[in-house]
Amino acid sequence: MSQPSAELVALVDQLASEHHLDDEGYRALLANRSPELAELLAEKAVEAREPIYGKKVFVRGLIEISNICKNDCLYCGIRRSNTNVERYRLEPDTIVDCAREGWELGFRTIVLQGGEDAYYADEVLGDVVRRICESCPDTAVTLSMGERNRESYQHLFDAGASRYLLRHETANPEHYARLHPATMSWEHRMQCLRDLREVGFQVGAGFMVGSPFQTMEHLVQELRFVEDFKPDMCGIGPFIPHHDTPFRDEPAGTLDMTLYLLSLIRLIYPNVLLPATTALGTIDPRGREKGMLAGANVVMPNLSPVAVRKQYELYDNKICTGEESAQCKGCLGLRMNLIGYEISVDRGDIRK
Ligand code: SF4
Repeated sequence: MSQPSAELVALVDQLASEHHLDDEGYRALLANRSPELAELLAEKAVEAREPIYGKKVFVRGLIEISNICKNDCLYCGIRRSNTNVERYRLEPDTIVDCAREGWELGFRTIVLQGGEDAYYADEVLGDVVRRICESCPDTAVTLSMGERNRESYQHLFDAGASRYLLRHETANPEHYARLHPATMSWEHRMQCLRDLREVGFQVGAGFMVGSPFQTMEHLVQELRFVEDFKPDMCGIGPFIPHHDTPFRDEPAGTLDMTLYLLSLIRLIYPNVLLPATTALGTIDPRGREKGMLAGANVVMPNLSPVAVRKQYELYDNKICTGEESAQCKGCLGLRMNLIGYEISVDRGDIRK
């Protein structure tokens, strides 16, 4: 056991009180990561979260509506060029039924996530959003449907969606170019995030921890991005390779680094909605519980029909693909209770 130096403790204190460090400060905290420093950061992160959210864990019911995608992100198991995927698309009626089932189970946030599938053009997706809003009162409809133009975002917002998740994946343009085909650009992704915010959405960004070619400097840039953009939600999870992608042989991101970054992000922006992701639960059986203890406050159980869950495999060995929605919710509730947390069924908007 080696206690963190006085300089590092001072940096943690500064971050906890000012929610800001210069790049040198972030670099020092990242470069000197140790179990003891991680423990201190987690303690401070929980302290920062408690007055805002207490020990409430917000649940978001996730419906994976289509694994058809026009894009070819190099890390993604459902990328266009993976011909081994059995493709599916849920019909609008099925999506609305799934959402209603979730609502009856108590979910008050429904997340529709999918690849960039042209079938879900504005009219069709907007209509699904409208129908969910009608059949599920007091529910926040969240979309995670990729890059679209501003008019499209406006249309979906007007239809009743109030949150949008679009991970930026990396805050560094050159790094972005190594993870994506030339048809995609970091600038466009950032423009989408700005458009979403201007339209009025609560906006979720996020990045992978330990993605191929990621350096310490990239992580400094991630923390700077969180400090500057202040996403309402920030989804970070370890990179996990998928066997049918060009990154199949790359090492996965680690649990410890993901937890460390969760704590740092909570301290940078105490109000942020911070999920303990399914990827975190995949690399460690208690990953989501550990995420809460590092500062997270959101979990996203799966509401997709069990028949299609295995086909939405963004990375290898993804968990929770076999249980019914009610079982998923029950299991998470129990897991959270065991660490002294309680799942909350309200909308779980960001508290500012
Ligand atoms: S990460 Fe998203 S946009 Fe990229 S290939 Fe996968 S589903 Fe499509």
